[in-house]
Amino acid sequence: MDAAAVRCLLCCVPLVCGNPGDLSGSGRGPSMACGHTVLMRLVASAYAVAQKAGMIVRRVIAEGDLGIVEKTCATDLQTKADRLVQMSICSSLARKFPKLTIIGEEDLPPEEVDQELIEDGQWEEILKQPCPSQYSAIKEEDLVVWVDPLDGTKEYTEGLLDNVTVLIGIAYEGKAIAGVINQPYYNYQAGPDAVLGRTIWGVLGLGAFGFQLKEVPAGKHIITTTRSHSNQLVMDCVTAMNPDDVLRVGGAGNKIIQLIEGKASAYVFASPGCKKWDTCAPEVILHAVGGKLTDIHGNALQYNKEVKHMNSAGVLATLRNYDYYASRVPQSVKNALVP
Ligand code: AMP
Ligand code: MG
Ligand code: MG
Repeated sequence: MDAAAVRCLLCCVPLVCGNPGDLSGSGRGPSMACGHTVLMRLVASAYAVAQKAGMIVRRVIAEGDLGIVEKTCATDLQTKADRLVQMSICSSLARKFPKLTIIGEEDLPPEEVDQELIEDGQWEEILKQPCPSQYSAIKEEDLVVWVDPLDGTKEYTEGLLDNVTVLIGIAYEGKAIAGVINQPYYNYQAGPDAVLGRTIWGVLGLGAFGFQLKEVPAGKHIITTTRSHSNQLVMDCVTAMNPDDVLRVGGAGNKIIQLIEGKASAYVFASPGCKKWDTCAPEVILHAVGGKLTDIHGNALQYNKEVKHMNSAGVLATLRNYDYYASRVPQSVKNALVP
């Protein structure tokens, strides 16, 4: 069962944070404030919020008390970082965009959020970018934000820190259209003086930024899949791809980063377990650079606020050659995974 919280942590109202305050008021139409569209302002805020989230993730490790809680089982964990980051992201965005629907992974008791967790900034570089015209009239109340405060929690608790990402995905009319990924420990193997962390962001129709796009050498089939949530179906499906190599790593965000940086050619997860907050932001980044993410049957994922959280029919994602991998999913695997 999805242990998800659908709530504004600021006002403790379930599902949708309604607020009579209207931030538009610029006289330039309902979606604009200061000349920027709602979508671009939200992405610019999500970028700043994700950077703060990365700092919180690093701080919790530095303080040494992870506060680990088992959710459904020993491989389904929550830490103090998952909790603090979700409070930070959801409260920060809800304050600035009170009509958004924000769906976060963690089921947290309603409580007053420490002011220290609130991020009010916006990444100015994003505000300099044009909003794709098809999104320029979007209103705040039409957007759904899917938040995975810490993706790869199991690996985080085991010290595999570069597997961890913070995911903020933005959906409109059921489709993932913008996303921000912070990788708090990017560069951590570069030594004590390295600057840690990076933020990747993207909007469909505009592109994806914050990384160097790279492809796996032609003809190589390198599969990336789960490290902590494997089973017979997952293994059967990976084997059927006839891979040259299999990478078993944590995190949906991390695996999509492997696809766009030429480390893996396909992300294959033939199992339920992964949720909408795991795939929303990563899907946008991948789609913005010409890749494709679907369930294991080839169906697009839906991100409207009423949708079931679980990606019951698994995940198949590639940067290139999607058809090669899709055509090799065994019928037995498809039969076992009902959307
Ligand atoms: P993984 O590739 O195992 O890191 O999984 C990607 C995302 O899906 C992570 O957020 C996991 O927590 C989640 N996930 C996958 N399978 C399961 C499962 N069986 N139980 C709980 N979470 C899962
Ligand atoms: Mg996750
Ligand atoms: Mg998580």
